[in-house]
Amino acid sequence: MLRIYNTLTRSKDEFKPITPGEVTMYTCGPTVYDYFHIGNARSFIMSDMIRRYLLYSGYKVKYVMNITDIDDKIIKRANEEGIDARQVAENYTRAFLEDIEKIKIKKADVYPKATDHIHDIISMIARLIDNGIAYNADGDVFYEISKFNGYGKLSGKNTEDLEAGARVEVNEIKNNPFDFALWKKHKEGEPYWESPWGNGRPGWHIECSAMGCKHLGETFDIHSGGTDLIFPHHENEIAQSEGATGKQFVNYWIHFGFLNIDNEKMSKSLGNFFTLRDFIKKYDAETLRYFYAQTHYASPLNFTDEALSASAKGLERIQNLYDKLNEMISSGDTGTEEPAFDLAGYYTSFNESMDDDFNTPKAVAVIFDFAKDANRIIHSGAKFTRGFLESLKEFMDKTAVGVFEIIKVHDAGAGRDLADDLIGILIKVRQEAKISKNYALADLIRNELNALGVILQDSKEKTTYKIH
Ligand code: AMP
Ligand code: ZN
Repeated sequence: MLRIYNTLTRSKDEFKPITPGEVTMYTCGPTVYDYFHIGNARSFIMSDMIRRYLLYSGYKVKYVMNITDIDDKIIKRANEEGIDARQVAENYTRAFLEDIEKIKIKKADVYPKATDHIHDIISMIARLIDNGIAYNADGDVFYEISKFNGYGKLSGKNTEDLEAGARVEVNEIKNNPFDFALWKKHKEGEPYWESPWGNGRPGWHIECSAMGCKHLGETFDIHSGGTDLIFPHHENEIAQSEGATGKQFVNYWIHFGFLNIDNEKMSKSLGNFFTLRDFIKKYDAETLRYFYAQTHYASPLNFTDEALSASAKGLERIQNLYDKLNEMISSGDTGTEEPAFDLAGYYTSFNESMDDDFNTPKAVAVIFDFAKDANRIIHSGAKFTRGFLESLKEFMDKTAVGVFEIIKVHDAGAGRDLADDLIGILIKVRQEAKISKNYALADLIRNELNALGVILQDSKEKTTYKIH
């Protein structure tokens, strides 16, 4: 039974999706005004691992990640560079999609953009005005937090505390300093759209409410994002969505701890960040993912070069085992031995760890225990059945690859560089040779590649390779 720590209830709740067997999940994506940093990447990767575990558990998952493509920061950037805000957003959206692919984040089912949803945003604002929760102040539309009873239920802040703690923010047009903008009146030099309240553009919070409801329904299962988003962003999302629909917006709220440097949050404004683009020149995607998986998603994590290097080193152990298993299976180095091995026990431990609020550090420790056990057996000198070796590989494929993507699978179809392409061609020729029963040619290709250190690995679906 999966349990999730829910920021809304402040307890580990049993996970019951709205529709049995299906999960609807939304995660706050980037504001596309620059390359993202490895702190952002921590949130994206942990969200990806949660989604992958839900898939592994047999759920059908609809996964939505928004792209904030209209925002003060984008406009500022456009003005600095002397180009159109749309161009800035397009450039960094493309870069974002390239970068998340590099760190093996599974593609979302939908990447909704704010600017493609202006109509939905306007409808939701109109509903809030009709319900008496939002007001038009001469072309700016604000959400009136005192009109929503549940305001503060996610962050635990109540409106009186907010007012008492507020630095006096003089804003003549707002009824309350914490009322927030749903629609911003057009200013010279800024992009705008037409609306019932005049030309303007949407506020940041309303886009996630409108796009979440549009793509996942007025109530959906899981919403995730970094801890910094609890207040005000997610608090405001709840206020807007529930204020408009009268229904519970999200059942489970998941928040990711910060990636810190010298115990300070990694952020653009502090300047203490590495972009993912730069980082990936030095380290593998698998190393970064493993480094993150070693800490529970909700805990803070301190970034150091030493810790990263230790992760890279640790990972070699399971990568070597995986490569060795592939080699034994594909080279036909098998026999009749079926040793006692508690594979079911490892699956159970893995599942129990992940079912406990996605305890990834425990789950990766299970993979390492498995590897120790498996290594001891396969290096004993005995010849094992192909079925046994495949069952070990399958465990790694499902967990270390499928859920965490922390080991490399050399896929002949990936075609990353010329050598890769050429090996792909040879694999195809060998397949053709086998079909036409020209086994001498098929063996020649295998042996010649072998001599170059390229080991072919045949499985039921396809042939992959690894380089020695
Ligand atoms: P932004 O582009 O700033 O809206 O951030 C995108 C996502 O990254 C959000 O879910 C943020 O909460 C998250 N995020 C930002 N900084 C960090 C950090 N240092 N560690 C973890 N997550 C972060
Ligand atoms: Zn959001």
